[in-house]
This record gives sequence, C-alpha cells and structure tokens, in this order.
Amino acid sequence: MQRTRAQWQDVADGLEFRTQAFIGGRFVSPASGRTRPTVAPASGQVLAEVSECGPAEVDAAVLAARAAFESGVWSRAGVDVRKATLLRLAELILANLDELAVTDSLDMGKLVTDAHAIDVPGSAAILQFYAESVDKVGGEIPPTAPGNVALVQRVPLGVVAAVVPWNYPLEMAIWKIAPALAAGNCVVLKPAEQSPLSALRLAELAAEAGLPDGVLNVVPGAGETVGRALGEHPDVDVVTFTGSTEVGKHFLRYAGSSTLKQVWLECGGKSPNVVFADVDDLDEAAEYAARGIFFNQGEVCSANSRLLVQREIVEEFTRAVADRARQIRVGHPFDPEAGMGPLVDRQQTDRVEHFLRLGAEQGVVVAGGHRLTIEGSDCYVEPTVLAGLSPDAEPVREEIFGPVLAVLPFDDEPEAIALANDSRYGLAASVWTGSLSRAHRVAERLQAGTVSVNTVDALGPTTPFGGFKQSGFGRDLSLHALDKFTGLKTTWIRY
Ligand code: NAP
Ligand code: MG
Repeated sequence: MQRTRAQWQDVADGLEFRTQAFIGGRFVSPASGRTRPTVAPASGQVLAEVSECGPAEVDAAVLAARAAFESGVWSRAGVDVRKATLLRLAELILANLDELAVTDSLDMGKLVTDAHAIDVPGSAAILQFYAESVDKVGGEIPPTAPGNVALVQRVPLGVVAAVVPWNYPLEMAIWKIAPALAAGNCVVLKPAEQSPLSALRLAELAAEAGLPDGVLNVVPGAGETVGRALGEHPDVDVVTFTGSTEVGKHFLRYAGSSTLKQVWLECGGKSPNVVFADVDDLDEAAEYAARGIFFNQGEVCSANSRLLVQREIVEEFTRAVADRARQIRVGHPFDPEAGMGPLVDRQQTDRVEHFLRLGAEQGVVVAGGHRLTIEGSDCYVEPTVLAGLSPDAEPVREEIFGPVLAVLPFDDEPEAIALANDSRYGLAASVWTGSLSRAHRVAERLQAGTVSVNTVDALGPTTPFGGFKQSGFGRDLSLHALDKFTGLKTTWIRY
C-alpha cells in the first residue's frame, strides 16, 4: 500500500525524538550541557537539539559498558537469554517500522519508501540472523595427544566501540551492534552527527527488549571528539568503524598510540561496473547500472560509480543509462513519486557540486550536472552521467558519494580488468556478460570484496561485506563478522 506524502508527514508530525546520550540504561545530558542541531536536509528545518557529548560522556559510557561486561549479566547470560532479547529487539524494530523509517528519512534525506522497504526491515533481519547464531555457533575440539583435550572457545572481547556514518543510520548501527551483542560484548555506539536520531531511539528499544543497562550505550557527538576519544580509550577493546578511508586511518593511529586495540575498518569505494558487449539484456543492464549509482542519492559505499563499457556498445549503453537518469524525479523524500531525495547536508552537496564542475571542465556531461533547489533546500543534485574523462581525472578516481556516474570505454577483457582495478579502493564490483566463462574469469581477477555478476551490489545477511586495499579489511554481515567480536581461547586439559 503506497502512502501519500501527507500520510508520511502525519507520521513525522507525531514523532518525539530522543536527544540525550544513552548511558548505563538512562538518557543523560552531557556535563557541558552542549547540544548540536540535527537538520532535515529536505527542508533545512532543525529536527532536534541533540546532546553534544565529549570525553567525559565517552568515559561514562565505556565505564558503564565495562561494568556491564564484567558483571556477566550479558556476557555470561544463557544463550537463550541473548537470543530471545535480540529477537525481541528485531520485533520492536518492526513494530516501529514507520517511525524509524521516517526518522532516518527526515534526518539524512533518503526516500522514506526505501527506508521503509529496505533499511528498517533489513535491520530487523540482520538482528534476527545474529540472534539465531547465538545458539548455533560453537567452539572446536581439535585433535591433540592422547590423554589431553583442548577446548577452543570463541569468547567475547569486552567493550566494543562502533563508529558509523550517516548514509544508512539505523542499518549501519545494526550491522555493528548485532554481531557484537550476539557474541556477548557490550557496546558504545557513536552515530554520525548528521543522523543521530534513529540510534538514540534504538537504544530505547533495546532497553525495552530487555537488554540490561550498560550493554548498549549511545554517545552522539563529533568525530574529532567522541570518535577520537573512543579510538584512544584505554578501556575499549575493539573499534568497529564504517566511514571514509581518511578517518579509518585515524583509527589505526589511535589504536597504535593507545592500547593496541583491535580496529576493523569498512571504508570507502569507487566500485566499477563492467559491461561487456555480450551482455544478455542491454536494457536490463542499463536499468541496474542506473540503480547502482543513483540509489540512496549515490550515498552508498559500494555504489557502482565507475561504468566501464565495451567500446562497441558504449554509446548506446551510455544513452540508455542517461535516459534513465533523466527520468528519475528528484524531490522531497516523502514524495511517493520521487526517485531521489536530497543529499545529507549542504557540505556534502558542496562537495558533490565541486565534482560536477570538474566533470563539466574535464569531460562531457551526458545527463544532469546541476545542483537543484527544491522547496527552499539546495541540498539536491541531478542524477549525473559524465563521459569523456581520462582514467586519471578526479571524478573517476575520487569517491564522490553522490549521484555522479563516470563512464569509461574499454576494448577488451584485459583492459577492462586493468581499468577496474586501477583504484585505491576494492570494495565491490559488477560484471555484465552473457558468457559464464568470462564471468568467472573476470570475477576472479577483480580486486573487490564482492563481485556481483549480472546484478549490482548483491549483499545479504549470510554473505560477508567489506573490501580490499584502502576500502578496509573488516567484514560485516555473515557469520564471519562474529570473528571480529570474539577472541579464540584455548583451555587445554591433561587427564
Ligand atoms: P566519515 O566522515 O569517515 O565519518 C564516519 C564516522 O567517523 C562518523 O561517525 C564521524 O563522526 C566519525 N569521525 C569523523 N572524523 C573522525 C575522527 N577524526 N576521529 C574519529 N571519528 C571520526 O564518513 P561519512 O562522511 O560519515 O560517511 C561516508 C563514508 O563512509 C564514505 O567514504 C563511504 O564510502 C563510507 N561508507 C563505507 C561503508 C562500508 O561498509 N564500507 C558503508 C557506508 C559508508 P562525525 O559525525 O563527526 O562526522
Ligand atoms: Mg540530520
């Protein structure tokens, strides 16, 4: 059932945001009393004044998490308790589907229909997946000498700091929290400044689900203060981070200059979508190519932002993708007809506009190319297709994190592979071909954590997600994510 804009607005009008930090099971104001507005990019309206935490709140949250961890209330709770609690949280997320979808849509500008159909149900599904892992993933008894037995257990590590970006506010938080909690850790979550509201509501829902006090804490605030304080904190055992490569590098420095805590990084991308002339269905491939870059306004780490097309079809294919770009209606994220909403804020829109300018100077704008003002907000950008750029041009090399696609032609398979791998990133890639052998050959050679064949951006709870090279090295999702939040402990018994 499709809702009208007015119906979504009704949900929005009924929302009451949580704005304080959540520490030790309670909402608390920071010692400084400072707040920071969180803004709706679609309107420029201040949604709420949110606590601006500092090192004192990070200390308090880490202390609460540590105390909860040591008490064993969660870390040594029965597997039935952990599983049931996380399943209840998943149910509560679904019970609050409208509210959570509207919250993220307001806070960062994504289409409410996407948040409602994908982000929120996806978050619940991932929680369910990890809840179910609690009583199914166990340890090992490896072979040892006669008269000996060794138990290898996966033990929780302690206090996990999760630092997340704004592009999928609820979902990125869940990708981190779900496996960390399932494994028995306690968590301090720092949401992005631009989008703290759903994380604060999530903390409240977790308490309602029965998660004991201190097991999940949420500390909103700036990266340079709260993020850094978490990265350097002597009592944080693990940092799990999703965000830019630049900030990922900071976290490695923080760990190196403090306690050698484990750091898991899922960073940026500049993912290639490689289309061969032998593709089965050119129209379908064009449809997916457009979706692969324009979904979520292009604010997707694995966005297919480089379109590599075999020369004999490059003109026709570029035209097909450009036609789709022009058909996308850019508008208010509550507008059911809109195919793209605003970017997260003015700063990000300025950044994307810079790349639009470069694209026009250094290449050809095939579709879009402009910043738009809609209903008084100038955070909108047209879906843009650029061609004629050199492989060294900035719009081809840099992660734009906006709806901007760069098209490059190639002649043959080796050139396609070389171009695709010519990036400091290695998060995701797509290949379109009607040849099974070619699909395997090319997929094998692409330096990417996930290669999607005849689709884009394939991912799900059961498969690992993360990158190679400067896209980082952590893996979210799948049972492998549990490895990040557990240590292997051997107990050797001579009998
Ligand atoms: P970002 O600037 O790197 O920020 C990510 C998080 O780090 C935010 O919570 C941010 O806090 C915090 N932070 C910023 N500076 C910090 C510092 N000096 N020390 C500690 N923490 C700091 O990234 P973003 O702009 O929010 O998100 C876009 C980036 O995320 C893109 O590069 C995208 O590719 C990447 N991403 C990757 C994945 C993946 O799974 N690989 C998924 C989604 C997004 P503030 O709130 O203050 O900025
Ligand atoms: Mg906001």
